[in-house]
Amino acid sequence: MARISFYGAAETVTGSKYLVEAGNARVMVDYGAFQGLKSLRELNWNRPAFDPKSLDAIVLTHAHIDHIGLLPRLVNQGYKGPVYGTPPTVELAALMLLDSAHINESDAAYANRKGYSKHHPALPLFDTRDVHHTLRLMKAIRRDAWFEVAPPIWIRYHDAGHLLGSAMIEMEIREGPKPLRILFSGDVGRYGAPLYFDPTPPPPCDYLVCESTYGDRDHPEGDLLDALAEVVRRVIGRGGVMVMAAFAVGRAQQLIYLLEVLMAERRIPEIKIFLDSPMAVDATELFCKYSDDHDLSEGKLPGRACAINGPHLTLIRTTEHSKLLNQIGGPAVIVSSSGMMTQGRILHHLRHRLPDRRNTIILGGFQAAGTRGRQLEERAKFIRLHHQDVPVRAAIEKIPGMSGHADRGELLKWLAPLPAPRHAFLTHGEKPAADALAETLRRERNWNVAIPRLGQTYELLSPS
Ligand SMILES: [Zn+2]
Repeated sequence: MARISFYGAAETVTGSKYLVEAGNARVMVDYGAFQGLKSLRELNWNRPAFDPKSLDAIVLTHAHIDHIGLLPRLVNQGYKGPVYGTPPTVELAALMLLDSAHINESDAAYANRKGYSKHHPALPLFDTRDVHHTLRLMKAIRRDAWFEVAPPIWIRYHDAGHLLGSAMIEMEIREGPKPLRILFSGDVGRYGAPLYFDPTPPPPCDYLVCESTYGDRDHPEGDLLDALAEVVRRVIGRGGVMVMAAFAVGRAQQLIYLLEVLMAERRIPEIKIFLDSPMAVDATELFCKYSDDHDLSEGKLPGRACAINGPHLTLIRTTEHSKLLNQIGGPAVIVSSSGMMTQGRILHHLRHRLPDRRNTIILGGFQAAGTRGRQLEERAKFIRLHHQDVPVRAAIEKIPGMSGHADRGELLKWLAPLPAPRHAFLTHGEKPAADALAETLRRERNWNVAIPRLGQTYELLSPS
């Protein structure tokens, strides 16, 4: 009897980890970190409910930290098997995990210096060495071809349109007369999103594991380019600096691409863009390397090898160079990370730019509960930065449609051609979002839908 267990992204949007057991095989789908609220982040420290050495393989949907961020810890705990992803996912994962190790190490060092931690000494969740051990286990497999992960479990990747390299996973357990089919949506991208292809229509399945980040909401209507043009024109009018908190991988490149398109079409004046994040700089180079993975049809950008790395863009790697940005007056755009403002260089830009009314802070995507991004979204008057309350006087704006996730309507559109699975599991959504989508699927499609709780296991029946 095959089984699936939900060890993360259960009634929450982060920490994706789903264990599939069939025959003698145990395969983990994603191994993400919990992010956001402290109560969630603390889960990252728990010992896994299974023996890491007992896993045969790990398959990744994409390289976001909430899908891969605990891999180095698992390797440190004894996992030695292969970790599969698409070629761009494998390369992006190296950037993301090295960056994450670095942040973990410096947080621990800072806590030790200042005596903040309950633990003595404070230790990082994992370190750079663990990441290097993890990267040695990573293997690239291409999309659209079947691959035997661990007999009897096979997978096939399909483009999810959510991030460079992102994929949904079609899984088959080939033991009975008919394969048992499980479809993992991964994170589903948007339709018509600049830079990304539309998500692949879902192949038929017996069981569906589907994300529900925006299961209760539609993104605002309207054209992304129009909305961005309007925001940029306002920033230029005020003479301020626009600080864009963007996920270093994906969102930052999408924003830069859109700004270049707007400038090429003369819909906004020329404006300098500073990409301030070493990881974002590396990721931009990967986006250029894998430009076939992208839909660049939006950009009427004349004959350039890579539409993202254009003439208005300055790539900033060093801390010294980053600090020099404090001296820059507007109008200018600073793109920095992290996207939810939990860490990274964005913090020093916020501290410097938030108190000035001429500036604008752009929230780039989903802001999880407990993050500074969520506080700004909820119009906080002050936010806490480096143990100081910093007044929020800059304008806070969201660019509608900048999300990498399908909204309610797009999830339903994506699911529309799918024949009823025996059972659908909704994950990767806060409870109200998952509940709302479950209700819609029960009412409109008459589907069997469950929202798994953390640690819950379900038996999977073979098709007769
Ligand atoms: Zn994602």
